[in-house]
Amino acid sequence: MIRKVKGTYDILPDEIKKWHHIEEVMRNVAKLFNFEEIRTPMFEASELFHRSVGETTDIVKKETYDFADRGNRMNTLRPEGTASIVRSVIENKLYTNPSLPLKLYYYGPMFRYERPQKGRQRQFHQFGAEIVGCDSPLVDAEVINFAATYLKALKIDDIFIRINSLGDQESKQRYQKALLEYLKPNMDHLCPDCNRRYEENPLRVLDCKVDKENPVLQNAPKPLDYLTDSAKYHFEQVIIALDAIGLKYEIDKNLVRGLDYYTHTVFEIDSDLESLGAQSTLVGGGRYDNLYASLEGPDLPAVGFAFGVERLILALESIEYPIADNFIHCFFINIGDAFQTDALEIINDLRHGGLIVDYDFFNKSLKSQFKQADRMNPIFYLIYGEEEAKRHIINVKRQDSKDQVEVELDNLYQYLVNSLSGGGCSGGCGSCDGC
Ligand code: AMP
Repeated sequence: MIRKVKGTYDILPDEIKKWHHIEEVMRNVAKLFNFEEIRTPMFEASELFHRSVGETTDIVKKETYDFADRGNRMNTLRPEGTASIVRSVIENKLYTNPSLPLKLYYYGPMFRYERPQKGRQRQFHQFGAEIVGCDSPLVDAEVINFAATYLKALKIDDIFIRINSLGDQESKQRYQKALLEYLKPNMDHLCPDCNRRYEENPLRVLDCKVDKENPVLQNAPKPLDYLTDSAKYHFEQVIIALDAIGLKYEIDKNLVRGLDYYTHTVFEIDSDLESLGAQSTLVGGGRYDNLYASLEGPDLPAVGFAFGVERLILALESIEYPIADNFIHCFFINIGDAFQTDALEIINDLRHGGLIVDYDFFNKSLKSQFKQADRMNPIFYLIYGEEEAKRHIINVKRQDSKDQVEVELDNLYQYLVNSLSGGGCSGGCGSCDGC
């Protein structure tokens, strides 16, 4: 038997309701904040990710799915969404839109060759948003607010917003120099991963999970202490805006995030819901003011975030959640050996009128048809056979009360619609008590 590839999984019909819910709330909240959806390809030229995410990041060094196509071009399955959005905005000249900033959101599968575990897969989904073309601190706050509002709309209330600032390019360089000087004599006390990062991407030493409590890291210089005056002002304004919105946050001086391209504000939102286990970060994001220019685009400042959708699904497991049960309006039950061909027309007319209708294809016994119907949770059974066809009627039985009435075929649709809207007949169905 061929099995699914390690780190991938199927979303089966039983689980899809939660996914639809998460997607529906995402679109509704995006609308409230006036973001528009953008869809980009699932694979891109490898160079895009090498140059944006960064050659020295774990993602590019160890986690990308790279392949040569039949024309020997190197392609990569997207490991994240931002790089593709940047490419698309530049290539399609979306920045010429007179009403900048662009407010975009995306949703879809991402691919990383990681060690699979709960909340960490090789194919996973992200919902992300980006505001492009505005350097106002209000934009940083808007993006954080969007993420927090989405969680609130999903009823995920136990959240912790952590924010930090890496500052502009000058602040980052100043800080990196100070950090390297501080760490150099202390590297023997840190883990092998930290030693590798020290050489390749020193900022990431700061958010090492292994040495989190190590005094070397606790006492290391922090990015906030190396901000230029304008970077400091930017961060203060972000905080003023978050306070005005009333969002609760914590300044986490060690937060740096994994990707090379961040500048100024970075943030993560965690939750301590039990079902999340060790993977408690639901969303991460930040400002990236230099990425557009570094990919030969115009100098466009931008801020964004990405939610891990599998983690949202996990989070929902801990919450009493009223997601409506599946149901259908009608199950059509055929009496007798032969299926009445005009039944297909009846079923089709009801569907065209917007009713959910299903029926048995196997020519099962009456009892089995009722059993099958009950698994689908119908509001009505429609019972029809040779006798009914002759008299041009159909039997309509409610599943809840088991009440059964004969309805003229020509009045069937009207009767069902009237009953569904509370039973009040507006007249003319010919079959209800009032008519
Ligand atoms: P990142 O793009 O690494 O900043 O990740 C953003 C969010 O995506 C994280 O906070 C996670 O919720 C989610 N995420 C990242 N990698 C994975 C993965 N391998 N499996 C599931 N979710 C992931």
